[in-house]
This record gives sequence, C-alpha cells and structure tokens, in this order.
Amino acid sequence: MNKIVSDYHLHSEFSGDSTQNIEEIVKEGIRLGLEEIALTDHLEYDIEGMTDNWILDVDRYAKRVFELREKYKKDIDLKFGVEVGVQPHTKDYLESVIKKYPFDFVIASSHAIDRVDLAFGEIQAGRTKDEVHNLYFEYVLQNIEKYNEFNVYGHIDFVTRYGGEKFRGLDYKKHFDIIDVILKKLIEKGKGIEVNTSGYRYREDRFYPCTDILKRYYELGGEILTIGSDSHIKDYMTMDFDRVYDFLESIGVKYISSFDKMQPSFKKIK
Ligand SMILES: [Zn+2]
Ligand SMILES: [Zn+2]
Repeated sequence: MNKIVSDYHLHSEFSGDSTQNIEEIVKEGIRLGLEEIALTDHLEYDIEGMTDNWILDVDRYAKRVFELREKYKKDIDLKFGVEVGVQPHTKDYLESVIKKYPFDFVIASSHAIDRVDLAFGEIQAGRTKDEVHNLYFEYVLQNIEKYNEFNVYGHIDFVTRYGGEKFRGLDYKKHFDIIDVILKKLIEKGKGIEVNTSGYRYREDRFYPCTDILKRYYELGGEILTIGSDSHIKDYMTMDFDRVYDFLESIGVKYISSFDKMQPSFKKIK
C-alpha cells in the first residue's frame, strides 16, 4: 500500500455545485495524513444557463485559502488552485483572471462545447457515440492549442460520463490518432494530465483518463501527473487513490507532481 501524498482536485462551498465548508476539507486532509492538498474551485465563464451562483468570487476565495494556509501551515501544505472550464472563445478573459492571482495550480477542463454543458444532453442529441467523443477530443485539442495558463488538463476523457448508457465507455482505438496529437501537444507545451478518480463514483468503474491514455502519455515521455478525487464533499477525498498508485507503479511511473506558483516539482511515490 502506497502512502498517499496529496489530493489535487477538491471543491468547496466556493464552487457553484458544492456546499462543503472549506476549513473542514483542510482538517480532513490533515486527518488523512496528506502532505499537500490543492483546492480547485470552479471558474466557469459563458456557459448557457449558468446562474450567478456559478460565478467564482476569486478575491474572497483567495483570502480564505490564504487564511487557512497560514492557520494550518505546520500540518499541511495548502495549495491555491482553480479548475477552469475552458472554451476557445473565452481564452482572453479566463487567462486574464488566472494571471491576476498567485495561483499555485490550475486545472483546465472541458465541461462545455460551444457554450453548452456536456451534462445537458444537447451535444449528444442526434449524434452517435463516436461522433460525440470525436467532437469532444477535437474541442479539447483546440483548447490545448490556445491556452497557456494551466498546469494539467482535467479528466481528459470524461465525455463518456454523459448522455446515458449509449455513450459510456471509451473506444480508445477509434480515437487513438487524435488522443496522440493531444498528448504530444501537452508534452510539447510542458503541461500534464490529472488522474481523476471520480469515475468510480459515476458508475464508470474507472479513473479518467483510461489506462490506455495514461500509459501512452508516459510512453511518449509525459512526466507531469497529479491525482485528484474531484470531491465536492470531504468524505470522498483520496477515494480510490490506491488503484491509481497501483496502476502507476505497474507501468513504471515513480513520481507525481506538486505545484508552487504554477511551477512543478516531483515527489517520489513511496
Ligand atoms: Zn471538472
Ligand atoms: Zn472538478
């Protein structure tokens, strides 16, 4: 059993879809014996039907994270992070927000395509599974080409989560070409991917990305990896991380990444 180092994808009451008290997350991280945690609340912009509740008050969020960092500094290293919902047309606005604050860690995620949230089902309507998955990966690639202000791409193949049974499961071989272009582009730009264990909680029985993608990223020379639970309640923190550590070890990965002011360093998996 490996010692779990960190959880790098956590949502609190500052996210539109969570009511989890932020200080309780820090206390849970200490209780779990983690060296670091990264709070990564949602920063979303220009998505159809998004209510005011979804606007991240970054000033208030930053202030609270820095207070907690100071208060618990002897016990845990608290990272100031964010999960940015990227779309090609929102690059200028979102990158200006990221540059304005001293973030330690930024996850870029594709939650929407052309302003429509993948969870709504509109994207899937009238399309086959392959078409939806291909459209999603093309969109991810466009985002990676455009954006620079991020460290890892979030849950890179989680498109399989939405649209119902028909759209579940990734046929890696069918999308191999575009996934290879995506992974090579990330490596060329010095960016990483996250391993996100929320798939186990969404009845997918796997982490994102799938083992084929993770293996390929490592084969191609990718070294930047973080592991996140994507928990919106503290009880899910580090859930199923043992499966990720076991898999990483089986393919020869020895380090996971840590971030300070968006600069990576590496921690040996023990
Ligand atoms: Zn996400
Ligand atoms: Zn998330």
